[in-house]
Amino acid sequence: MKKHNFSAGPCILPAEVFQQASEAVLDFNNSGLSILEISHRSKDFVAVIEEARNLALELLQLDNNKYTALFLHGGASMQFLMTPHNLLEKKAAYLNTGTWASKAIKEAKLFGEVIEVASSEDKNFNYIPKNFEIPTGIDYFHCTSNNTIYGTQLKSFPKSNAPLVCDMSSDIFSRDIDYSQFDLIYAGAQKNIGPAGTTLVIINKAILGKVSRKIPSILDYKSHIEKESMFNTPSVFAIYTSLLNLRWLKKQGGVSALAKINKHKAELLYAELDRNPLFTPYANKEDRSLMNITFNLANPELSHTFDALWQQAGINALNGHRSLGGYRASIYNALTVESVQLLTEVMQELENKA
Ligand SMILES: *Cc1c(COP(=O)(O)O)cnc(C)c1O
Repeated sequence: MKKHNFSAGPCILPAEVFQQASEAVLDFNNSGLSILEISHRSKDFVAVIEEARNLALELLQLDNNKYTALFLHGGASMQFLMTPHNLLEKKAAYLNTGTWASKAIKEAKLFGEVIEVASSEDKNFNYIPKNFEIPTGIDYFHCTSNNTIYGTQLKSFPKSNAPLVCDMSSDIFSRDIDYSQFDLIYAGAQKNIGPAGTTLVIINKAILGKVSRKIPSILDYKSHIEKESMFNTPSVFAIYTSLLNLRWLKKQGGVSALAKINKHKAELLYAELDRNPLFTPYANKEDRSLMNITFNLANPELSHTFDALWQQAGINALNGHRSLGGYRASIYNALTVESVQLLTEVMQELENKA
């Protein structure tokens, strides 16, 4: 039976990416060797990581003289501490829009003063705070573009003289924004880039080298840049599979082509949630995420019936994050319009039954 995977991460990737990745496990580039057994310093893999780093910048329309792209270990969670370690001399400002932002704030406090410019915790992070002020004299401003757990998304980004740092784990490559307004972007691969096990970090090199503390080499962005993202053994297979996905993205017409489809998918689902009286969307309307769509049943007693219906339809992983409950449909790049359509049909079926 065909599966429709709405998992929040690790998540769906295009079928052809799974196919090509599986072929490389058996025989990579007709070498007679598996991608899993070759040296990361081999000519074939050096070509992979170079292409992946360049293609990431190209797809985001970033100048590769100004920016550099790295594939690092440790997930987005490692970036919660690597960014302050490398950038925070005295104080930094953070926007608190949820669990991941809170975790980033907690780590930054180990390195200096953190000013929380605004928080949506008062309403359990169902909205994005607006009209906050970014103080002057900060080393950088940090925000989370898309709040995977709550289903909210920043539609625009504040301007300030300080470098702009963004955790884009769950919406990078999904929408048409000016990526050059950011100075540092990081994203765990497992939500729109590739499999778990690598993290994309994009840095405007000009912001580095300004803190006085000593940074252990493996935590220093400069060591990774100098070694062309091969300071230590990179996640060979995860990076190769990410490259396959980035190539797929380019073939579809790039980020703007996917952004149109993603918008259409989200509109379909929100329209059904707004129409169908059995469901209540979680996020504040103007802050709704186009990637993670959170909702509840108006009558929780219907959950057994609803759960049975979507599971029978082949839908996977529709439950909300364990900290929030309810439901969450993650509709990343590789999820098709048909899968979203199917979910809306299941919602209508529930309405007809109830
Ligand atoms: C999933 C997620 C993280 C955590 O990523 P890891 O790679 O597991 O460390 C951080 N931020 C956001 C926005 C996420 O969605």
